[in-house]
Amino acid sequence: MEPDVQELLENLVVTSSQERELITRAYTYAQNAHKGHQRESGLPYFTHLVETAKNLARLGADAQTIAAGLLHDTIEDTDVTADDIRREFGDDVLFLVEGVTKLGKLKYRGLKRHVETLRKLFVATAEDVRVILIKLADRLHNLRSIKALSPDRQKRIAQETLEIYAPIAHRLGIGQLKGELEDLSFEILHPREYKETLRIRNEKHAQTLSDLGHVTEEIRAMLTKADIDVISIDHRIKHLYSLHKKLRDRDMNIDEVYDVAALRVIVPTLEDCYLTLGLIHSVWKPLPGRIKDYIAMPKGNGYQSLHTTIFTGTGTIIEIQVRTKEMHAIAELGVASHVSYKEKKSTSVEEIQGLRTLIDLPTSHGWLQELAREQKETKHTTSFMQGLKRDFFKERIIVFTPRGEVVDLPEHATPIDFAYAIHTDLGNHASGARVNGTFVALSTKLKHGDIVLIETKESARPSSKWLRWVKTANARRKIRTMLGLTDDTTVKPE
Ligand code: MN
Repeated sequence: MEPDVQELLENLVVTSSQERELITRAYTYAQNAHKGHQRESGLPYFTHLVETAKNLARLGADAQTIAAGLLHDTIEDTDVTADDIRREFGDDVLFLVEGVTKLGKLKYRGLKRHVETLRKLFVATAEDVRVILIKLADRLHNLRSIKALSPDRQKRIAQETLEIYAPIAHRLGIGQLKGELEDLSFEILHPREYKETLRIRNEKHAQTLSDLGHVTEEIRAMLTKADIDVISIDHRIKHLYSLHKKLRDRDMNIDEVYDVAALRVIVPTLEDCYLTLGLIHSVWKPLPGRIKDYIAMPKGNGYQSLHTTIFTGTGTIIEIQVRTKEMHAIAELGVASHVSYKEKKSTSVEEIQGLRTLIDLPTSHGWLQELAREQKETKHTTSFMQGLKRDFFKERIIVFTPRGEVVDLPEHATPIDFAYAIHTDLGNHASGARVNGTFVALSTKLKHGDIVLIETKESARPSSKWLRWVKTANARRKIRTMLGLTDDTTVKPE
């Protein structure tokens, strides 16, 4: 077996022969489809697909997601058609590959006012968390191999990563990936600050490293004595971009950043977490105001842990995070940790179609129930998903112009709202609308993802009926102006 394939299979949570076969087949299929293609670096294009799939495997993605990672550029870049993928790999893999292809068409123009909309659109377009994972894994490899591109393109890609991809990774709770995406982009966009932050961190870290070792040993001995199993104790060093932001807020004084290095203690149960924290506080004095119970009160992206910051007694201060294995998986992988534990037999697109369906049916959906059962932390899972709903979809819809530009509108908005959102004249002379290629009435309620084209006539004018159809204050105001209505004139219903 190819060593690459071997590596892809190693991380699978569920490894049936079917899944091994799927990945192996996708590997060979992509290799053939991209035969002769090169990246700008001169390397075979196929290396990009293998690296993307490896990133996914590391995140704990399931076999279908890994297969889709291998195939993600086939429809866009080769002769392979959607029908080919469906026939060879089924509806689910096709759904993922098409999702990634759609995401590739979203245009990033670097306009500050579009950033938030574009993030929402990205998630809405993806429809499924797994599509986002593939796109993030794809971007991670593109950044790692970015040196072959011109400086201008490098900067554009890095900027887009910082403004769109990293915040989404953060929102989905994929901390590790977010940190890597940010640091790679940071180096490209601000090389001087990057080097300076690296220098400061290294200096500080040399100092704390010996303390970390000694505290680790002491905690281990203490827990063993108290009969608490230690699953692992390790430490993480703060990523450079987030350190840079903290340093900026603290006059570049690293002694005021307490979590440059954090010890992570993984214990079996929730009770063990609290016992461990108590034991730690019985030995080291905690810094006031730095004890945080994210188990009782998880962060918005689902993160759970107990945090404390202690004086080691030798002049240094370190942060300690205590959590269970499950909490650790969520901290590192976010939604990916849910995805990988997803039950295998529910393979219809409807059943596992992620985010949007999930959000629309928060209590009755099979996938969510599985999560609830497997996580045994129903409360946290539900609030996490509700958080996503609130942030991304709260009473807003996102529609496109035929050129792929994004218009963010309230629910139940009509083509008239759309027209006025683009330009006053477009609204004032709107005579008809096409939605997804079909003529519709101007009173039609638009839906998420609609492509809207406004027909105009020089002679067309707003009518008072429009005031009943519009949802946006902007459109209402402009129609009233055109109708010659002052603010206190009410329009009589017809
Ligand atoms: Mn790609």
